Amino acid sequence: MSMSGKQAVPTVSQILAEARRRFTEAGVDSAAADARVLIAGLLGLSTTDIVTRGGETISTEKVGVIAKAIERRLAHEPVHRILGEREFYGLPLSLSAETLEPRPDTEILVDTMLPYLRHLANTEGHIHILDLGTGTGAICLALLSECPEASGVGSDVSPDALRTAQSNAERNGLRDRFEVIQSSWFENIHGAFHAIVSNPPYIASKVVHTLAPEVTKFDPHAALDGGQDGLDAYRTIAKDAARFMKPNGVVGLEIGYDQRNDVIEVFEAEGFKLLESVSDYGQNDRALVFA
Ligand code: GLN
Repeated sequence: MSMSGKQAVPTVSQILAEARRRFTEAGVDSAAADARVLIAGLLGLSTTDIVTRGGETISTEKVGVIAKAIERRLAHEPVHRILGEREFYGLPLSLSAETLEPRPDTEILVDTMLPYLRHLANTEGHIHILDLGTGTGAICLALLSECPEASGVGSDVSPDALRTAQSNAERNGLRDRFEVIQSSWFENIHGAFHAIVSNPPYIASKVVHTLAPEVTKFDPHAALDGGQDGLDAYRTIAKDAARFMKPNGVVGLEIGYDQRNDVIEVFEAEGFKLLESVSDYGQNDRALVFA
């Protein structure tokens, strides 16, 4: 076989090294990890397989697919958007244009809420959860997967997000306990819930365009922009939540790193009491629970 013939059929490890080199040269954050996740995802292999099977060759068709994906990452598209899915709390979730990409930090809200849900499940038997602005369904589906006594409603203004959340429920065997409702906050919501959870848009409007291009160019702004001071969604939730809560219900929220005191003030002004405040892996305030 000629030299050029060999080069035309690259191995897994060659293509991985090439992706890593191009990401590193372009200054992509976590270039090595991104290359591994992207190439593994596109080849349908685990990140361990791409090392142990590094000597295997890749079809010309796959080489073309990978080349396009590398260009998309160099244009700042996050790897999980390119792959169309990511894992959240152990659940594989599809992403779409109108869903925020679930962040590892949001798993903190899930961890924070589970003891409340388990306690409520013990006393109530069945519990009902509302996830406002559900997006991919991440928070609600993670809670349902951990809490078999629970059912949930995911609301969102975006029909695209609701389709995505619904298919994620199906994909994870949670369809029977999950329902979607098109609604701007509480607008089309009926009934009373044991837990209301949300990761609402909380970035101040003028800050949204200053975020990393991975965020500002690819996450939907409706999921990021929290109005002039970033607190609009919290005010809306605080104003109406009590009408949609069971007497022993709780509200669990993700917050921005510097919003703890402001959000507490907004909820206390509506008669809520802070039950818990939780920090994330970077020691920033990240989740609040109210009753
Ligand atoms: N955590 C997201 C970010 O920093 C913001 C998510 C939100 O506004 N709810 O990009």
